[in-house]
Parts: sequence; C-alpha cells; structure tokens
Amino acid sequence: MAAKIISGTEIAAQIREEIKQETAAFKEKTGVVPGLVTILVGQNPASISYVTAKGKTAKELGFYSIQDDQPENITEDVLLALIDKYNKDPKIHGILVQLPLPKHVNETKVLYAIDPNKDVDAFHPVNVGKLVIGEAAFYPCTPYGIQQLLIRSGAKTDGAEVVVVGRSNIVGKPIANMLLQKAKGANATVTICHTATKDMTFHTKRADILIVAAGRPKAITADMVKEGVVVIDVGVNRIGMTPEGKAKLAGDVDFDGVKEKAAAITPVPGGVGPMTITMLMLNTLKAAKVAAGVNQ
Ligand code: NAP
Repeated sequence: MAAKIISGTEIAAQIREEIKQETAAFKEKTGVVPGLVTILVGQNPASISYVTAKGKTAKELGFYSIQDDQPENITEDVLLALIDKYNKDPKIHGILVQLPLPKHVNETKVLYAIDPNKDVDAFHPVNVGKLVIGEAAFYPCTPYGIQQLLIRSGAKTDGAEVVVVGRSNIVGKPIANMLLQKAKGANATVTICHTATKDMTFHTKRADILIVAAGRPKAITADMVKEGVVVIDVGVNRIGMTPEGKAKLAGDVDFDGVKEKAAAITPVPGGVGPMTITMLMLNTLKAAKVAAGVNQ
C-alpha cells in the first residue's frame, strides 16, 4: 500500500491563514503590529533568497517587516550594536540574524546577544534550556514545523517509538527533546542516531515515527523501515539540475522505495521546507503577544 503524502505546502498554508486571522484580531485588540527584522550580512545568494522569502511572508501576514542589509566586512562590534538597537526597539518583536555569518564574526556571540524574548529562531541558550525543561517560550522553527506536521496529519506521538537520525542543534537535538516532553503532540520514546551509531537499521526498523535530518541522500532506504512507519524527511540535498536549469532537490530518504512501506511520508520539496518560515511567523506573533501582555 502506498503511503499517504503529508503535504507541508498545504499544512503551512493552513497555519499561515490562522496566523493572518490571529494577527488581524490581535492588532484590533491592542493596536500592536507584530514586527520582524531580518539581518543579512553579505550577499550569499542562498541567504538572500531565504531572507527575501521571510520578509515577503511577514508582509503577507500583516506584520511590520524590515530587512537590514549589512556589508560582508561589518565588524562584530557594529553588528552587536545593531542587535542591541533592535533589542530596545518596541516595534520589533522578532530578530533574525541570517546564518551563516562571515568567518571574522563570532556567530555564537552574535546569537547570544539577541534578547531571548525576541529570539524567534530559538537558538539562544536560554530558549534551548527552557525547551529541555518543558517550559519553552519559542520552539526552533524547523522542529516546530515537524511537530505540527505530525499533529496535523494525525500521527500518534503518545507512546510512539520515535527515531531521529541526526543530532544537530537546529534539528535533531531540539525535535528529540520536544517529542519526549510529557505533553500533547509529544510523550514519545525517543532514540537519536548519528554517525557513531553501531547498527542504524536496528533502530530505524523499530520506529513508528522516523525523522531524518542527516543531510545525506538515500541515508534511509526501504529495507531500513518497518511497514506502517510515518516518515518525516528533513533533508535538502542538491542532486543535480533540472532541464530548466534549476537545482534538483532530494531528501535524505529514498522516497520511491520507502513510500511503498510507509503509512505516511513527507516529500522533498514540499514537506518540511514550507513549514520552517511559517513557524518563524508564528514565533513572531507569539513574541508580540507576550510583549503586549496578551495570553496566547
Ligand atoms: P548537520 O548539522 O550536518 O547534521 C547532520 C547530522 O546527521 C549529524 O548529527 C550527523 O552525525 C548525522 N548524520 C549524517 N550522516 C549520517 C548517517 N549516514 N547516518 C547517521 N547519521 C548521520 O545537518 P542539519 O543542519 O541538522 O540538517 C540536516 C538536513 O536537513 C540537511 O540536508 C539540511 O539541508 C536539512 N534542513 C532542512 C531544513 C528545512 O527547513 N527543510 C532546515 C534545516 C535543515 P554526527 O553528529 O555524528 O556528524
């Protein structure tokens, strides 16, 4: 039986519609417009396209949005002063520094300078710590998107065996921590695999829900999963060019093989990707509500 396709494009569109409506209601009630600044250092083409997409989505949802472009040779001190300015700006509720930063700038120092209440990427150690103890103010955008895909596609996490492949700070570790919380949309038994895992297939074959964020095409093949698994493929790998000259993308999962065994699976593109920006918007709205003293 072929798997149900979990469409991130459709679920992201639903969530954006909800954010749009909530934003309008929040504005009417408080007069506050959620504000997001994206800081772009240098002219990395991928970063430009991410920042442009974030700004466009923010405007579509009715947010106040600014893109602050800074030169590649900006000093760390000037960048830190800029963040301090936005930390103090009452019109700004979310600050996003597009990564990667140039080598001469200490990325950690910059991310730690963001006010945790405006840290809509949730990379600040205060927010990482709160997530681990189950008191998160914000969830990092990609893991938040993954959890929403599971909830909104009806996957049962409660008591499920969840296997996460990858232990990065932006995907693997936070999604594992989120899904093991004693909470709705979580409460799973979580295993994390990485390059030192002795027998990956032993773990992946036990998974009721398999989340793959390895950055390796075909890291997961059909022989590594059980019938009925729910698969969330986070990977984005460029595997060539289309005849139209666009990058051809593939996930970390051998989609064609695994979809024959899975109960449900996300495609690449059109799975986790569209969710990430959407959850950034939800975090910005949350930050604005907290600043305005409005309950979630
Ligand atoms: P990362 O920092 O490179 O981490 C990859 C992780 O996977 C590491 O923990 C690594 O283990 C593990 N790994 C790599 N190959 C493996 C293998 N063959 N078996 C088991 N574990 C393996 O990557 P990331 O930032 O988490 O991103 C992962 C993928 O998701 C990338 O393709 C990225 O482009 C994509 N991504 C997509 C979105 C989105 O919005 N759609 C957002 C973020 C990331 P070690 O720790 O042992 O090295």
